[in-house]
Amino acid sequence: MDREKWYARTPDEVVQFWQTSFNDGLTSTEVKTRLDKFGFNELAEKEKVAWWRRFLAQFQDFMVLVLLGATLISALLGEYADAITILTIVLMNALLGFVQEYRAEQSLAALKKLASPTARVVRNGMVQQIPARELVPGDILILEAGDKLAADGRLIDVHNMEVEEAALTGESLPVRKVADRRFSEDVSLGDRKNMVYAGTSIVRGRGRAVVCASGMATEVGQIAGMIQTSVEEATPLEKRLEHLGKWLVWGCLAICLIVVITGVAKGESLFLMCMAGISLAVAAIPEGLPAIVTVALALGVQRMIKQRAIIRKLPAVETLGCTTVICSDKTGTLTQNAMTVRQIFADNNHYEVTGTGYDIKGNILLNQQQVDISKDKSLEQCLTVGALCNNSALKQNNITITGIWRDKTETSWSIDGDPTEGAIIVAAAKVDIWQAEIEKKLRRVGENPFESERRRMSVVYRDANNNNILYCKGAPDTILDLCRYYHTAAGPTSLTADHIGKINAQNEQMASQALRVLAVAYRRLTPAQANNLDESAEKELVFTGLIGMIDPPREEVKASIVLCREAGIKTVMITGDHKNTAIAIAQELNIFKESHHKALTGKELDAMSENQLDAIVNSVTVYARVSPAHKLRIVRALKRQGHIVAMTGDGVNDAPAIKEADIGVAMGLTGTDVTKEASAMVLADDNFATIVAAVEEGRGIYENIRKFIRYLLSCNIGEVLTMFLAALLGLPMPLMPVQILWVNLVTDGLPAMALGIDPNDPNIMRRPPRHPAESVFSRGLIRKIIGRGVQIGLSTLFVFSVVYYLQDDLALARTAAFATLVYCQMFHVFDCRSETTTIFELKFTTNKYLLAAVTFSTIMQLSVMYIPFLSSIFATVPLSLSNWALVLTVSGWTLILNACKHIFRRRPVRRAALPQNK
Ligand code: ATP
Repeated sequence: MDREKWYARTPDEVVQFWQTSFNDGLTSTEVKTRLDKFGFNELAEKEKVAWWRRFLAQFQDFMVLVLLGATLISALLGEYADAITILTIVLMNALLGFVQEYRAEQSLAALKKLASPTARVVRNGMVQQIPARELVPGDILILEAGDKLAADGRLIDVHNMEVEEAALTGESLPVRKVADRRFSEDVSLGDRKNMVYAGTSIVRGRGRAVVCASGMATEVGQIAGMIQTSVEEATPLEKRLEHLGKWLVWGCLAICLIVVITGVAKGESLFLMCMAGISLAVAAIPEGLPAIVTVALALGVQRMIKQRAIIRKLPAVETLGCTTVICSDKTGTLTQNAMTVRQIFADNNHYEVTGTGYDIKGNILLNQQQVDISKDKSLEQCLTVGALCNNSALKQNNITITGIWRDKTETSWSIDGDPTEGAIIVAAAKVDIWQAEIEKKLRRVGENPFESERRRMSVVYRDANNNNILYCKGAPDTILDLCRYYHTAAGPTSLTADHIGKINAQNEQMASQALRVLAVAYRRLTPAQANNLDESAEKELVFTGLIGMIDPPREEVKASIVLCREAGIKTVMITGDHKNTAIAIAQELNIFKESHHKALTGKELDAMSENQLDAIVNSVTVYARVSPAHKLRIVRALKRQGHIVAMTGDGVNDAPAIKEADIGVAMGLTGTDVTKEASAMVLADDNFATIVAAVEEGRGIYENIRKFIRYLLSCNIGEVLTMFLAALLGLPMPLMPVQILWVNLVTDGLPAMALGIDPNDPNIMRRPPRHPAESVFSRGLIRKIIGRGVQIGLSTLFVFSVVYYLQDDLALARTAAFATLVYCQMFHVFDCRSETTTIFELKFTTNKYLLAAVTFSTIMQLSVMYIPFLSSIFATVPLSLSNWALVLTVSGWTLILNACKHIFRRRPVRRAALPQNK
């Protein structure tokens, strides 16, 4: 297809072609029509595997195929009942596996949907955030640093925009973009500087573009053709278990072979022994272990979504439980990011601002008196600069409440955009300075956008007389360095050392009251400077004032920090804010104690060598005035100390640190696409407490995995040992092949799944973090597995021998052994719920799924023993009361032992070891 050369056309031509509007974008009806015409903005995915194929895949296991082959032979030999039973059991097992996998997949798919990209567009004259798949040609895209482009577009307006296009052109250096130039039709992709392409990301600046191609029509869609769905990365635990599984397969096969050989040697029929051997192998080989781990991870991930943590990389779930340090941004994560201006300093006057939130009710007071703004030119200038050097907007929302007699309209105010900027607009509105009104008289002609590294932004406005004025605001220390003049009511004067001293003192004092302080300044520009605006224009500024705003800590964060401390996890605050502001908030949140901890600034960090940083990094809990580059150093230093670091970030430049951290955490609300893409986890609510909840969930998931590994492996050892020891001791075969398969079905299926969703142990956050290299069998688990496996095997064999020798009835002995093996496991599953406490302390009812699963399995077991039709298939006979007493005592003695322990011990639940971090 001959592709349109949008880069050779003017923005107007493109806008006209797509019949859209610069300011209003498309209408909803037009969007609908275009969605029908162009389809969703998606790249074609590999065709999904049909469900029946997945079901059939359950039979791909070699041992299952052998079993099915053997079943076929037994059917040919006339053993129809056996054949049908085995087939049914194998089918039920496959169905169970299929359901498990299906659920896991569903939750992972839901996860993908949650993490799917969005885009900001102008539609119906309003800025809207929409799912990127709904973009259509003609949409007006609003672009900011950190955005990942979701469609191809022709730029119509840019401010210092640089785009990283490596994904498309291979060029790693960012490309500076323009809007007003046209390029000849034959320029290569990398040189089309007035275009932006899907798959690339904006590293600096802001701008707008008209979408010109979406979905498969984009450049990346053309290149890639069919994009395959991404392969889910296996977690370290899954990989290790897969490796272990292979060893276990060989071990089981060897034992099964011995069972078969000794059985045949003793005179059993070769066919029966082969069936028994194969059934045992199918039952005992834990080849499904990695799959169940995936299920547990997927289900856990779904629980995390409910806690508002979205996992992007599955291995992160395991690492979360090992976290020893959480490095968190301050604004919006530890604090509410609901800014309210409280104090202003202008022209040597210190003002207090009243009112709460974004409501414009409130006053500005000087010496306890309400100011008259028409007479206070310095304050007016200060607030005007703040309101104009601003990309937020004040919104009035009218809510009509229907009354009995008449309706009442209430007005509430909110902010569109950055709360720091919104707070300034609100403060200005309190004294009748309206940003929207001033903007009617002036025209914005340029902008140097805010960047965390620069800690400032500036805009240029032109009035009717063609005067250009640059308005700048930012961190006071940064702005003061750029100022040469000082604004007074009489106009600008030179900035003296005395002024600087006073400004600094005011700044320090406001900051130590936990206020975030911004300085505002301005200057005139020549038309040439205004037309070629860049950072160099931000000099010789007129210092106008300081604006201090509060941002209260999030209430729930305090409790989360205490929880972290108990869990041996250190909390570190990393902020671009002033050191005093950071310390004041850190003290309020109990992150910082003068006697224990240190606070470092970015400058101090710069002056330190890696060795010096390593020496103190463990005691630093506050990093202030840092830029994203410092975050990378901090992560690395912490990692060198052996920490497992979770690090939050939102800006585009946070991406490297987030990638470097063990758990990169991106902000869902304020985070950029680039950060989200680099992260392992996204916080839907930007809240620190959510990270802690996710860590707790991560620990819980790992513990649950240990629980069912413990359960499954010990049960399998029990089954294999029963058959193996019987063969070694020259006993008759204690279980028939169908019985072995049945035991596997009723014990491994539902109860194991229910263990995978066991509620978290209430003490889970009172233990120190797990070491990431720790084996899944550590902390005595292997001992527990082998010990219990041996006990299950010996118990079954004991019951078998007692009944066989005392009552001289092989069918009865087999039935008793069959029941013992099942009930040993049914009792054992409750023990697996905790490694430190007994089930009596945990309470049976806290996992209702497990109770239901065990009840169901018990009924199933009784059915095959007592329903005549089934008992003939399963070769069982009814057990007498005394037989039942023997079976239940032998299988349930551990439960009785635990009950005794519980009654006699009666001491509080054991608390875990001391946390490492203070
Ligand atoms: P964090 O979210 O990491 O806690 P932060 O939000 O305080 O940090 P930045 O957003 O990087 O950090 O801001 C750093 C400094 O830049 C702030 O302390 C403030 O002085 C200044 N600043 C913040 N927002 C703006 C803005 N919109 N315009 C101008 N200056 C700003």
